[in-house]
Amino acid sequence: MASTTPGPTTLASAEMLDAFMAFPAPLAFLRQDGHPELLNVIFRERFGAADLDADVLRALALGAGGEPRNARLSPTGPTVSVRTLHTPHRIMLIVDADGGKEGSAKLERLHVRVAELERLSATDHLTGAWNRAHLDGVIAAELSRSLASRQPLSLVLFDIDHFKRVNDRFGHAVGDSVLCELVRLVRGRTRASDLLFRWGGEEFVVLVASAGYRRAETVAENLRLAVAGHAFEGAGPVTISLGVAEHTDDETAQAWFRRLDAALYEAKESGRNRVNVSRRGNSDAWAAAGGASALHLVWMEGYECGEPTIDAEHRELFRLANSLIDAAVQQQPAVAAELDALLEHVRRHFADEEAILERVGYAQLEEHRRAHAGLLRRAAALKDEVRSGKARLGAVVEFLAQDVVARHLVAVDRAFFPLFSVQFSSAGLADG
Ligand code: GH3
Ligand code: MG
Ligand code: MG
Repeated sequence: MASTTPGPTTLASAEMLDAFMAFPAPLAFLRQDGHPELLNVIFRERFGAADLDADVLRALALGAGGEPRNARLSPTGPTVSVRTLHTPHRIMLIVDADGGKEGSAKLERLHVRVAELERLSATDHLTGAWNRAHLDGVIAAELSRSLASRQPLSLVLFDIDHFKRVNDRFGHAVGDSVLCELVRLVRGRTRASDLLFRWGGEEFVVLVASAGYRRAETVAENLRLAVAGHAFEGAGPVTISLGVAEHTDDETAQAWFRRLDAALYEAKESGRNRVNVSRRGNSDAWAAAGGASALHLVWMEGYECGEPTIDAEHRELFRLANSLIDAAVQQQPAVAAELDALLEHVRRHFADEEAILERVGYAQLEEHRRAHAGLLRRAAALKDEVRSGKARLGAVVEFLAQDVVARHLVAVDRAFFPLFSVQFSSAGLADG
């Protein structure tokens, strides 16, 4: 799930917790951002919890993992050999993992079991879509991200039309297989960052990242057409009705879902096999506010690669750049600090992006590293020129807009987008 980032799932298994706590080496669970979630007894005894170095943990969490390497987990502690193992939602960090053959087997068993439990606790068992329990955590995380980055967030809720008739006519087993086929169909028609949840019986939710209600309406209409044009095995044609709602103002998740549900209800009432949109949302207000400065960098859908960390950092880059531009336009004394914050973010983002690309085995990584290094050198030089009064801020804005966004993000980064994004297929609507 992308995105957007999957929220932490609970590891509600006594057996698993026992195995974790009694593990014969220091072992920690980290969230994907490196935040420590759970430390076993030996880990606590050796490193404590208070003075763990957040930057080191973050770098370890983002790194490729697998092979042991040296790290200092706390500023005052010794350098130790650590290994990280990735599971779908967290990272296992093991210190001095060389417990021989038996130790490795134990670790491998635990790794497999944790990954399995994570998946099970967040997944709907029939269809493989994310389940409703998982949605709560994801919504909370995505909402705060949306408000902080001023990127809109929309939901599509859909329900199979007259599904009872499918069951009555063809049997419950065929009904089940229609649900599974529907999930495959929707997955093939949405981006990797758009998450699909089974909301209940024959009702599903798609969380559409960085989309206002207008783009979400297009997503919904594409789904409606794809389903209506598909022949379901053993059941033939099936249609869905869809409601769309973008998050707006400071409404609670509950109020947002009520609006979403009402939109779907309206689609059913007005004849089924149709999309109904609640036509309001933050995207309108934010677009109006953003229109104030013609210099602002404007985020576009096409800038998204589908990898949640990279996309979030790219959006943050835009936010910081616009904040710098505002400060410069208003000739505020904060300009220097804004510039530092932006450059710091760019440095961290390049490192994170390189770690992620390394993890997925990106073939042009070295070339990409060199492009990053070149941009950083140019940024540092520009900063000095601005400091000494040799360059005007206009040069910085142009560097951001032209070199960083137009040439690098839009042209160079694009080469790795296919690694993460699901291509929208326009090839016929009748394939599954
Ligand atoms: P509407 O167009 O108003 O949505 O009509 P409907 O028949 O789809 O709606 P209703 O809510 O009356 O019925 C939903 C049906 O979905 C009833 C239930 O048996 C069926 N259903 C729910 N979950 C499952 C499932 O997991 N498998 C199967 N085969 N059927 C399910
Ligand atoms: Mg129905
Ligand atoms: Mg229903």
